[in-house]
Amino acid sequence: METKITIVYDNEVMEEGLWADWGFSCLVEAKGRPQILFDTGAGGPILLHNISRLGLDPGAVGIVVLSHLHGDHTGGLQTFLEVNRHAELFVPYSLRAVFPGRRVTAVKEPLQICENVFSTGMLGDIEQSLVVGTEGGMLVIVGCSHPGVGSIIDAASKLGEVFGIVGGFHGFRDFNRLKGLSLICPCHCTQYKSEIMRLFPEQCIECGAGLVLEA
Ligand SMILES: [Zn+2]
Ligand SMILES: [Zn+2]
Repeated sequence: METKITIVYDNEVMEEGLWADWGFSCLVEAKGRPQILFDTGAGGPILLHNISRLGLDPGAVGIVVLSHLHGDHTGGLQTFLEVNRHAELFVPYSLRAVFPGRRVTAVKEPLQICENVFSTGMLGDIEQSLVVGTEGGMLVIVGCSHPGVGSIIDAASKLGEVFGIVGGFHGFRDFNRLKGLSLICPCHCTQYKSEIMRLFPEQCIECGAGLVLEA
């Protein structure tokens, strides 16, 4: 099953007309399963602007996953939920918020979100990552990687062989952990982007809002 990942919110943009801002969000689409919005960026108006500018429909999202409770990943949530009245939520269990009339799963342990899509559970008690089964193996989608890229890859590997990782690699510099991956897309808060790009030129893809990855 082909999976399409569109970066809709990032510190950088890939095309004119999209808005860059400190934060992260991406949309995960595959035939036969609900569209998943992973994180919501820092601001609702920027999120909705980029989504519609990219020709995507916020109303078509069936599931929203929040990686962790930092404002640059959750700030757009309320505004998004005003235009999407039905999406189901998978949020860190420590989130103190009520979402009337919505299905909400408070995530702590690893779990399956829908067909071929899993959460690592709240690693380090701070952050969950998405693990998406594709034809090429497991693709890991991260918010900021606060638990450490290595621990996230270890957790994801329990579900299958990991071939790629996309998202923010906050503070990450244990570059050896990326060896063997065929897709590396350092986004958002990654401090050592240029080193990673230099070490893995064949595997790296430059990130920014508007980037579409197919796996
Ligand atoms: Zn962040
Ligand atoms: Zn963070």
